[in-house]
Amino acid sequence: AKRGGRNAYAIFDPTMSMSVLEEAQQRADLEHALEHDEFRVLYQPVVDMHTQRLTAVEALVRWQHPRDGLLGPYHFIAGAEANGLIVPLGRWVLRQACAQLARWRAERPEAAGLKVNVNLSARQFQYAGLVDDVSAALADAGLDAASLTLEITESMLMADIEAAKETLHALRRLGVRLAIDDFGTGYSSLSYLKQLPVDVIKIDKTFVDEVHIDEDDVALVDAVAGLGQALKMQTVAEGIETDEQWETLRRIGIDHGQGYLFGRPAEPADIAALLSAETLS
Ligand code: C2E
Ligand code: CA
Ligand code: CA
Ligand code: CA
Repeated sequence: AKRGGRNAYAIFDPTMSMSVLEEAQQRADLEHALEHDEFRVLYQPVVDMHTQRLTAVEALVRWQHPRDGLLGPYHFIAGAEANGLIVPLGRWVLRQACAQLARWRAERPEAAGLKVNVNLSARQFQYAGLVDDVSAALADAGLDAASLTLEITESMLMADIEAAKETLHALRRLGVRLAIDDFGTGYSSLSYLKQLPVDVIKIDKTFVDEVHIDEDDVALVDAVAGLGQALKMQTVAEGIETDEQWETLRRIGIDHGQGYLFGRPAEPADIAALLSAETLS
């Protein structure tokens, strides 16, 4: 992982061991930031691979730091995960995302079918109040559960498969959709994948980077596309930056795409403008 270039970021670097004092300071900083509304949510387009039209957006959190500027998740998610503040922070992101989708829908008829994806952290996924939080966020936003997709990584599922299965089924009963994030980077076995109530597989960017030039990556992505078909799960390729990558993935049969080619994480107003766009690249 890359180090932040500035000294001020060092205390958020999860690869550095922190003193007890530094940890306490970071916790206090994050708590202060939550109380003072310093976090923001940006939304990145997810498009249909064939029509290139917007089908969903992924909520990605940022910290508008009063001194250090706009910080990406790398600077604070691991710390928040370690000290537990990820639970209230994640709840805040979830509520923001649901409320924002309801707002787009109220403002624009084109947003009727739009969905929103929200990332869950390991700690949030294990948190006993998760299902109630999700249900409350949907109810308070007046949003139907099927419009929300929760993204969970393979490692979170594999840490305790029985517990994960139970949580996934409870979320499924609410009606929300579930996605496996960063697929291919973890160690999920096929036999477990089959048992999990998952709707979407998100293929990690590392398989996309060279898919237009590397036959091995084509074979791997092709295998995941087949897996998705066999298990009736939709596939999304992440980190698409070029036409060549898009063309290759579309030909393989990947259903949806996400990446700078279609749009970077953006403010809600910019997403509203994309809703009426014919295509996104
Ligand atoms: P992720 O869930 O895999 O999200 C995709 C990341 O890839 C985002 O980085 C996005 O900006 C970036 N990305 C998308 N398309 C491209 C592309 O074409 N090229 C390149 N180079 N990058 C692309 P971001 O926003 O910095 O988020 C990083 C990670 O932080 C996320 O990875 C996710 O694991 C975590 N994260 C972000 N928001 C949240 C949140 O609200 N809760 C939790 N628990 N984690 C979050
Ligand atoms: Ca994600
Ligand atoms: Ca991902
Ligand atoms: Ca190779």
